[in-house]
Amino acid sequence: MAYLTLKNINKIYPNGFHAVHDFNLEAERGEFIVFVGPSGCGKSTTLRMIAGLEDISKGEFLIDGEVANQWGPRQREVAMVFQSYALYPNMTVYDNLAFGLSLQGVDEDVIDERVQKTARILGLTDYLDRMPRALSGGQRQRVAVGRSIIRKVGIFLMDEPLSNLDAKQRVTMRSEITQIHRETGATTIYVTHDQTEAMTMADRIVIMKDGYIQQVGTPRDVYFNPRNMFVAGFIGEPPMNFIRRKVENGCITVAGQGLDLGKKLGDRIKEYEGREIVFGFRPEAITLEKPENAYTLEGMVELTEMLGDNANVYMDMNGEKCILKVSPFEIPEMDSRISFSIPVESVYLFDGETERVI
Ligand code: ATP
Repeated sequence: MAYLTLKNINKIYPNGFHAVHDFNLEAERGEFIVFVGPSGCGKSTTLRMIAGLEDISKGEFLIDGEVANQWGPRQREVAMVFQSYALYPNMTVYDNLAFGLSLQGVDEDVIDERVQKTARILGLTDYLDRMPRALSGGQRQRVAVGRSIIRKVGIFLMDEPLSNLDAKQRVTMRSEITQIHRETGATTIYVTHDQTEAMTMADRIVIMKDGYIQQVGTPRDVYFNPRNMFVAGFIGEPPMNFIRRKVENGCITVAGQGLDLGKKLGDRIKEYEGREIVFGFRPEAITLEKPENAYTLEGMVELTEMLGDNANVYMDMNGEKCILKVSPFEIPEMDSRISFSIPVESVYLFDGETERVI
């Protein structure tokens, strides 16, 4: 049985705003789940309902098979890390870590043992006597994480814990949190708007938009099998290219170049004759060669961006823009005319109206 079950969970705020609609999820014990989506999509609201900090308006929340809607945060055995570290400024790192356990009346010896262990895991051993103001942002965030993992809880909730850190610290903390998760084995729900964090940390990702779940799946699933255009565009950097066209005689035309979809992808577009579809391909899925079984397009190179291990190429095809990702050894000249190919198996097609994958 799943450890956490959310059944048709809804949140309607007192002002009438319906922030979360029929949220369904089952999380296994020890799973690392990431909620991701743009600002305002309902990630934090859902997390706060799991934490017991926000009432559930409708639906059922179960922990280990027991309905927990009315349980307080303590009974749910959750620990939560917020974006703001919220450390006690007048206490040393040691006391910040120990405080929660002291309140619970845990023995001094046990507290000391756990503080030392937590500090070791998080690389804070040398900082235990310092005040929070004498720490860097990354170190403060580690103390905040430490404060929650020091208590032995079943559910670990994190709301954008890395957003106050710089890019380098974020990468370091990302792998540290993954490592801590492995060591503690706590069921973790992690909220972020950053798709890279979601892809690198999650066992499964829940992608949300406007209060609705768009897709739940492993990082591989949501990348290779997006259910709709929103997911396809949200996961992946640079985002997937979309070309919206009407299907005519099984073909779409891009800047005067016909792509015969009927021939290779006929089954998928049978019902779309005369209707609009969206032709999608990832920037990294293209090749500058001309393999068999691929669609070839031509356009002008507007701009190139050398990133080191790869390069982005911004293309213009008579006003239709797209981005290609190429190796740093094959960056084309700016203002040159090039052709590129999209292997048939890398083409995504979406219904122009519903935006669902075809
Ligand atoms: P962000 O990434 O910006 O934190 P989020 O996905 O976590 O966004 P929520 O904080 O869950 O989004 O908010 C979801 C929606 O609910 C937003 O439109 C927000 O304005 C609204 N909302 C949040 N709290 C309240 C409240 N107390 N009363 C009314 N509406 C609220």
